[in-house]
Amino acid sequence: MQAEKTKKIKKVKKTSKVQKGKKTKKPEKANKVQNKKLRRNMRIGIAVLAILLVILGSVKIFKPSWFTDMYLELTEEKIEAVEPEIDVELLTVNPYSRPGTPTEKITGIVVHYTANPGATAMDNRNYFENLKDGHDTQVSSNFIIGLEGEIVQCVPTWEVAYASNSRNIDTVSIECCHPDETGKFNEETYKSMVQLCAWLCMKFELDENAVIRHYDVTEKICPKYFVENEEAWEKFKKDIGRTLRDF
Ligand SMILES: [Zn+2]
Repeated sequence: MQAEKTKKIKKVKKTSKVQKGKKTKKPEKANKVQNKKLRRNMRIGIAVLAILLVILGSVKIFKPSWFTDMYLELTEEKIEAVEPEIDVELLTVNPYSRPGTPTEKITGIVVHYTANPGATAMDNRNYFENLKDGHDTQVSSNFIIGLEGEIVQCVPTWEVAYASNSRNIDTVSIECCHPDETGKFNEETYKSMVQLCAWLCMKFELDENAVIRHYDVTEKICPKYFVENEEAWEKFKKDIGRTLRDF
């Protein structure tokens, strides 16, 4: 009986010895494995960070407007090369049509119709200009497209024009002439509208979905033909998209 007890104790002692030995060896091994893992994770982390920095750097170069809320326009050679012909006839700075207020970052292009059948682009431009003396109302637009497709610029794109209400501050406005009461644009005017909108999209890093109607801002029936003919409006935007990709 006594002998058996001793044997048992010995056995227990043996086991505890083994356990003790294991206990001291295991953490060392585990530490090594852990360090290896840590180093590997750090290497992965640094690699991911480097890749992110490269991506961020590229985006900053190719999409600079993503990093600012300020007015910014691209002036690269390839953009200048596809600029439509623009007759720059800037208005005199005055509180009724060219307040001289700086625009913010341009996030949209707003299309209007003049609601003045048969009038030319210069007729409309001169009406805006004369508001400085007549004080009748406050109205203007950055661009006017005429019945022969001519483009007249009245207000620089970095200045507010009085055309699109709450969106004057962050959009460029285009008034478009039309021959009659239906408000339908003729082919020459339409072609210039597509060209100018596509070019402005390129200049301000936008796409055709950033082109909106005055109606989309205030629900005013403007431009009449594009409000009353939704499919014509959709086609217009598609034409802008196609031109933009052809540039
Ligand atoms: Zn309008």
